Amino acid sequence: MRRIALITGSSRGIGAATALRLAEDGYDICINYLKNTNAAQQLAMEAKSKGAKTIVTKADVSKEDGVEEMFEHIDNELGAIDCLVNNAGILFHQMRVEDMTAARINRILSTNVTSYFLCCREAIKRMSNKHGGKGGSIVNVSSAASRTGAGGEYVDYASSKGAIDTLTKGLAIEVANEGIRVNCVRPGYIYTDMHKDGGEPNRVDRIKEQIPLGRGGSAEEVAAAIAWLLSDEASYSTGIFLDVSGGK
Ligand code: NAP
Repeated sequence: MRRIALITGSSRGIGAATALRLAEDGYDICINYLKNTNAAQQLAMEAKSKGAKTIVTKADVSKEDGVEEMFEHIDNELGAIDCLVNNAGILFHQMRVEDMTAARINRILSTNVTSYFLCCREAIKRMSNKHGGKGGSIVNVSSAASRTGAGGEYVDYASSKGAIDTLTKGLAIEVANEGIRVNCVRPGYIYTDMHKDGGEPNRVDRIKEQIPLGRGGSAEEVAAAIAWLLSDEASYSTGIFLDVSGGK
């Protein structure tokens, strides 16, 4: 039986690499995105060419109705999901806390935190053996920033990732006896377009000298860690954090 996986924010970057990796590993997948229809459609074609039944859902995961509709669409087109990768995330231009507006902070929190809660909620309703489900696996994509705090860059973003670490720990305990594992990958310094949104497209190259492995990481390296945590190879791991950050 092919497993069904939802990867939020998978039109590009780490999400796209994870979608392709899971398609290669034999999953059927739902690609979710917000704006980038062309990239999502192109990725879907690539995933289909690897044999994966693939659907594409444009949905703002920070919105409750968007998440509910997305899960209903997956139920109808693929079936109840087995795996959830909470990956969609944003950051804004580097700024000190003293200059941040409530609008900016709330947007970061709703996209990076509320969305993870909402997708976990809908996934648990379908996965939990308390609700008649057959269990499942959730991976939350946090960040090395939850450990460093990202002072002088984006403490709001780092704080949102701290919340994801806590969500992972608490939820893993809450659903452990319902057949669901919840784990976390914490990437750091990965070559994606996200750094452009932070106002510094070459951030990884600026920092790479300080990274023990001496280089930035690729989205595929993060996808490999996510794929392992989702898989039965990680069957005795829940509530854990896998740092994919070159030793920093
Ligand atoms: P990215 O290249 O900027 O891609 C972000 C993805 O999220 C895009 O597919 C985007 O869709 C989607 N998205 C944004 N807001 C959304 C929303 N409200 N609803 C649905 N989809 C939404 O980011 P990335 O670098 O791959 O990062 C992926 C995850 O890894 C994030 O959680 C990020 O915090 C984390 N991370 C990244 C790094 C790094 O160095 N890159 C390091 C640590 C952690 P559209 O393209 O359609 O807008």
